Amino acid sequence: MSDHQLPKAYDFKSTEKRIYAAWEAGGFFKPWNDPNKKGFDPSVKPFVISIPPPNVTGELHQGHALTTSVEDLMIRYHRMKGYPTLWVPGSDHAGIATQLQIEKMLVREGTSREALGREEFLRRTWEWKEKYGGIITQQIRRLGASCDWDRERFTLDEGLSKAVREAFVTLYEKGLIYRGPRLVNWSPGLRTAVSDLEVEYSEEEATLYSFKYMLADKSGEYIPVATIRPETILGDTAVAVHPEDERYKKYIGKKVVVPMLGREIPVIADDYVSREFGTGALKITPGHDPNDYAIAQRHNLPVISILDVAAAVNENGGPYAGLDRYDAREKLWADMKAAGLVIKTEPYTTTIPRSQRGGEIIEPMISTQWFVNVKPQARKALTAVKNGDIRIVPEHFDKVYYSWMENIDDWCISRQLWWGHRIPVWYCEDCGQQTCTREDPTKCAHCGSTSIEQDPDVLDTWFSSALWPFSTLGWPEVTPDLKYFYPTTIMETGYDILFFWVARMIMAGLEFMEDVPFRTVYLHGLIRDEHGQKMSKVKGNVVDPVELMDEWGTDALRFTLLVGSTPGKDMSLSMKKVEANRNFTNKIWNAGRFTLSAIGAVQAAPSKAEPEWTLADSWIWARLQNLVRDVERLFQTYQYGQAGQMIYDFFWSDFADWYVETAKQQLAAGGDRAYYTAQTLSRVLDISLRLLHPFMPFVTEELWGHVRKALQNSPLASIAKDWPIMLIVAPWPEPRKEQGWEAGAIADFTLIQDIVRSIRNLRAEQDVKPGKKLPATFAAGEKTDMLLEQKTVLAALASLDGAKLDIRESLTAKPEKSTALVVGPVEIYLSLAGVVDSVEERARLEKDLAETESQIARLETLLGSDFASKAPAAVVNKERDKLISYKETAEKIKAQMG
Ligand SMILES: [Zn+2]
Repeated sequence: MSDHQLPKAYDFKSTEKRIYAAWEAGGFFKPWNDPNKKGFDPSVKPFVISIPPPNVTGELHQGHALTTSVEDLMIRYHRMKGYPTLWVPGSDHAGIATQLQIEKMLVREGTSREALGREEFLRRTWEWKEKYGGIITQQIRRLGASCDWDRERFTLDEGLSKAVREAFVTLYEKGLIYRGPRLVNWSPGLRTAVSDLEVEYSEEEATLYSFKYMLADKSGEYIPVATIRPETILGDTAVAVHPEDERYKKYIGKKVVVPMLGREIPVIADDYVSREFGTGALKITPGHDPNDYAIAQRHNLPVISILDVAAAVNENGGPYAGLDRYDAREKLWADMKAAGLVIKTEPYTTTIPRSQRGGEIIEPMISTQWFVNVKPQARKALTAVKNGDIRIVPEHFDKVYYSWMENIDDWCISRQLWWGHRIPVWYCEDCGQQTCTREDPTKCAHCGSTSIEQDPDVLDTWFSSALWPFSTLGWPEVTPDLKYFYPTTIMETGYDILFFWVARMIMAGLEFMEDVPFRTVYLHGLIRDEHGQKMSKVKGNVVDPVELMDEWGTDALRFTLLVGSTPGKDMSLSMKKVEANRNFTNKIWNAGRFTLSAIGAVQAAPSKAEPEWTLADSWIWARLQNLVRDVERLFQTYQYGQAGQMIYDFFWSDFADWYVETAKQQLAAGGDRAYYTAQTLSRVLDISLRLLHPFMPFVTEELWGHVRKALQNSPLASIAKDWPIMLIVAPWPEPRKEQGWEAGAIADFTLIQDIVRSIRNLRAEQDVKPGKKLPATFAAGEKTDMLLEQKTVLAALASLDGAKLDIRESLTAKPEKSTALVVGPVEIYLSLAGVVDSVEERARLEKDLAETESQIARLETLLGSDFASKAPAAVVNKERDKLISYKETAEKIKAQMG
């Protein structure tokens, strides 16, 4: 009994933690070439990823799980290829999300942020962050993420805050940051501007209100107008019609009267108005609608804001001032009805903007905010992708990126929150000027007055995350890390934040570092439920990755996510797939146990130094070489899912099913044969585990450790003599050029597999008992010698009676009372006398013949069509060969039927 018997089942619960701790303790998550250490070689190219920082308040969802799995796969692969790899981890302070969480907590305590005051509120938020902010990091570790945790960063830590300050002041000094009133997305509940990203649009049932805009000339004529937000009538500054509209042309230049307020406003003409849409006349509310705002700019119309920060009507709303927006809507409409101004109301489906955080309806509102003029940066960022300095995978996202960068608007960066980087601008009470400096000022830079006060707002969280690829490496200090690791190699993230984050990082990198922040952008898709529905808490179809890890293990979850994903495409996640991949983990474990027992059984070195390989040995080795080449090719093109599927198929079918079955016979032979079989098992398992490691790091590491130890204590020690202490740093399998013998070995063993499958199918169809060994006669033609050599293998795999297995080149007559099969060039006659009746046998042959003839008909039609002249010659010839082979099969079946 060997010392290295594995436990019967793989226990991921006890293994994952232990393995992760061993990796970390071994220092394997750190780049082996470190610019801060002795012996650093600046000429070696590193592989670097900065993690998309999750919200510090967050808990792991499937999006994080996929991001982490894909990035860890990239990092592990490059680490095994010998690159110094650095994966920088960290988290985002997530302004709104965090502030909301704390405010809710305060409400539960019976207090509020206003009652606490800014300083105390921030103290409480930091306290909360220290206590709970680590949850997401722990969950990312559980996924096996091999990040360099000593380099972990937080967007509000000292260094990153310095970076934000430097970036703001630099842009301010260049005149690219300004403050002014603009229309923004306003969240009345949170009382802050929110970014476009934080607004969700959904189709909803609303009411369309149609009413009369009466002409001011008291003619009694009116223009019919419709709106879904009647309260905005209070802020109307014009009614617009199409210049060519016959119905309204005569009113252009005249005045109409704002209902209930009596203000007179002009009727204007603008091409933007669609004659076909609605009544063909538009009310223009520049203070509360982005399109109207644009029209107002063109026509020099006044902009009236009618809502306050809580979306109650302000002093501009006349008798409705002080009412909440929805109460005002009801009261105004009732008054208009009484005044005879109402035409009708009807149900109407439209797109409603809601806050991603609070769920309330967002109001477009005029507000004084800070903006960045991003147009100069956007031009550079556009060029960087167009000229190939940055490559986007998949490529079709280029177009989306171009269109966004070409139409970019100034970026509203101020938020009326407390949690975040406070805007570094001080206002002077005496001279009214602004002071913006890198260090907090004590007096006004213009008049020297000490009566200065800092802007109360904070910066949009995306302002700090735009700097992430270089702020995490020490910028604005020119640190050794920044010099060596910037630009990073790949930015891997969901396609949904290409604009909000990726584009801003590109702009910031070019602005502040004068170089792109990364060479490649890899965009993954979103994860949907098993029916393809978006996961949402409301629908209740959210699958928690932590629960999946608890139940099936991390490797099963990672493998499911990685194999299911294609760049840029959404994927469906089902529990069944995760369970199936847990079964794969067990399959790997069992193949490992078998290999270990084979190693343990080897007593001595072989008697002959020159190995004699069996067909099965050569075949599995050739298949493995093919796999290594395919995986490399697929990895180079980011097709990780397809690569994982190929490794899975190889391991499960070729190795664990076919080779292990064959190896049992070879091991039973003992001596040199057993030695070389154990050697093949070990080598194939080793390379398979290396290929699988980036997908399933835990089970592969655990098993590989056992194999390594077993080999080192056996006569097979030379195999493992160069192996490092852990798989995580073992070299990636090098693809070799295809060798001449590979194709032949694969073809011969594939024929054996086909024969075995056919016999197994026949046995199953005819209900032959599993243990029953059948006599058989083969007419094998040119394959006679090969099959004679493989007689024992065939007999064992197909449960044939070895003593009564007659393999010859050809037969003069069909054997008596036998059932026939045709597999490629081989005719097989199985003696089923007494086991099956001849009527059934005849029916089976007829069925086979019918199937074969339908294939012949299909191919003859195909080859008689355009296909023969249009398709490539190699493809056509392949189909011709198939036709010849089907015709031969049909002849053979007919001969058997007599
Ligand atoms: Zn001053």
